[in-house]
Amino acid sequence: MPDGAAIRYEVRAPNPSDHRAGVVLTVDGVGPGPVEVVLPSWIPGSYWIQDKVRNLSDLRANPTGAPGPLSVRRLAKDRWRVDPGGHGSIEIRYSVYGNEVRSGLLDVTPEHLFLSSGFVLPFVEGRRNEPHDVALVVPPEWTVHTELPEVGRHPSTFRAADFDELIDSPIDAGRPETFTIHPAGIPHHIVLCGAAGGYEPHRLQEDLGKIVEAAIRMFGESPVPGYTFFYHFTDGPGNGLEHARSNSCVFPFTIFRPESAYRYFLRVTAHEYLHLYNVKRIRPTALQPFDLTREGYTRLLWAMEGTTDYLSLLTLLRAGRIGPARYLTTVADEVRMYRDRPGRLHQSLEESSLAAWVDFYRYFEETPNRSISYYLKGDLVSLCLDLHIRHETASQHSVESAWRELWRSHGRELRGVGEDELERLLGRSTGLDLGRFFDDHVRGTGEVDFETYFGFAGLSLEPPPKTRKADDDADAGSLGIDVEPSGGLARITVVRDGGPGRRAGLSPGDEIVAFDGGKVTFDQLSKALERAPAGTKVDVSVFRRSRLRTIPVVLGEAPPKELRLGPAKSATPDAKKLYESWLGEAWSPPKPSEPTG
Ligand SMILES: [Zn+2]
Repeated sequence: MPDGAAIRYEVRAPNPSDHRAGVVLTVDGVGPGPVEVVLPSWIPGSYWIQDKVRNLSDLRANPTGAPGPLSVRRLAKDRWRVDPGGHGSIEIRYSVYGNEVRSGLLDVTPEHLFLSSGFVLPFVEGRRNEPHDVALVVPPEWTVHTELPEVGRHPSTFRAADFDELIDSPIDAGRPETFTIHPAGIPHHIVLCGAAGGYEPHRLQEDLGKIVEAAIRMFGESPVPGYTFFYHFTDGPGNGLEHARSNSCVFPFTIFRPESAYRYFLRVTAHEYLHLYNVKRIRPTALQPFDLTREGYTRLLWAMEGTTDYLSLLTLLRAGRIGPARYLTTVADEVRMYRDRPGRLHQSLEESSLAAWVDFYRYFEETPNRSISYYLKGDLVSLCLDLHIRHETASQHSVESAWRELWRSHGRELRGVGEDELERLLGRSTGLDLGRFFDDHVRGTGEVDFETYFGFAGLSLEPPPKTRKADDDADAGSLGIDVEPSGGLARITVVRDGGPGRRAGLSPGDEIVAFDGGKVTFDQLSKALERAPAGTKVDVSVFRRSRLRTIPVVLGEAPPKELRLGPAKSATPDAKKLYESWLGEAWSPPKPSEPTG
């Protein structure tokens, strides 16, 4: 290929049922010294060391167009050194296993080949900034979808400006269902792989179009000439990852029903789409350039992920996909979840951002007691920041206007945001001194006074009024633990600090076999608790490391299962005005007893 890039990959999977692909990496322009190839250990947007190099095997090398072998030495788990033996062009061949449809990975099945290259295609040390070509040898009846420009046919060949763009550009080859919409006149491709049942094509296109338009209105312009939504549907858990001109989401087949599941689908979609601005372009300087061989640290993940999450729910509201009542219900539920996490008093947002590598992505039994999610707290603190800014500036400024300004001053030109710069930039665009706010909520670990912030919008936060049935629930006792089913029994996964289980000495890993002397299964445990109100002393029998023991526990009060935001009795005219400019409707917050639509 005379006009091919000097670094090019060819991927083929002649026997897709074995989930294996063969890759040939051709490197031209090789000097006299050795060539080292390295597989990334992590990919931008997913902050944990994944070690997917275990999927690679049989790495060999030969001179291009001549029989091998060349000497290959593996130097580390992720690095190989090839001696080119005086040849100016070499081919590196290996096998890669791909049986997981997720960003960064390869999924090879008889139905498709999904290549999200980060953990599949190694880079050539010292040459990441050069153009990279990737060719896919796939059945002729398949179509290939990617935001990379096509530079050759037979096989379909695509070019990335550099390695970072290559791994930021998923490619799907197969026979997906596809639609193209043109919100704001910009082509947006929707690629649905895995034929999910139950979705309404017209509604899906309309919803995604409205979300895109709302996002573009929020930031004032689109950063891209085109975009692709990749959706894969499987039976496993979902996930999503943002890319520079696309996103790649995996959802369960059942995501389109009921409405609550579909709303989650739309929210994730909006979140990944907003990353086009926040994180892909408004981005922390500290991670640039990406060192893909070891952890990279920034204290700003909360503003990259949490603020994106805050704006994603607001985008659904601005796009008319949810109403203010639904918006407020969702926000109140997020506050409830946040308050149920003891770690909120131990880890700040900044620390949570730094520790993503070991906390958020490595959740275990002690995680909720010692750490907080920078998504959840970042979302809620962004909400409080929005209400604070609106309150202090009579709604002249907001988080939306501040992020639009960040886009203009930093995102558009890819000027990174320094670790200590965000507070100053937001202060400058809003005219406020945000030092105290950042001390309290970004750098600090104190309780967040949500009541005060919601009060700025004339809202009050409270449990829903009790119905007769809820009355019964309200009396239910609590052990202050999380459980999961294990052989029909309830196995303790988390013991919450400050809760009755912790005080009594229950432990993660305990399998509960009896409650006050009576046998109890996983399914029966919550019923047993409903019959035993707070303050009751009960004997909880557990198997701990296979030894039976009985532990007396004084039950505590169950945390509220629900919180609602409703009109505050003391709502001032200014607060009502703030509410109207924030939620875009006349002052009419739902009464806490009203159902949400
Ligand atoms: Zn995100």
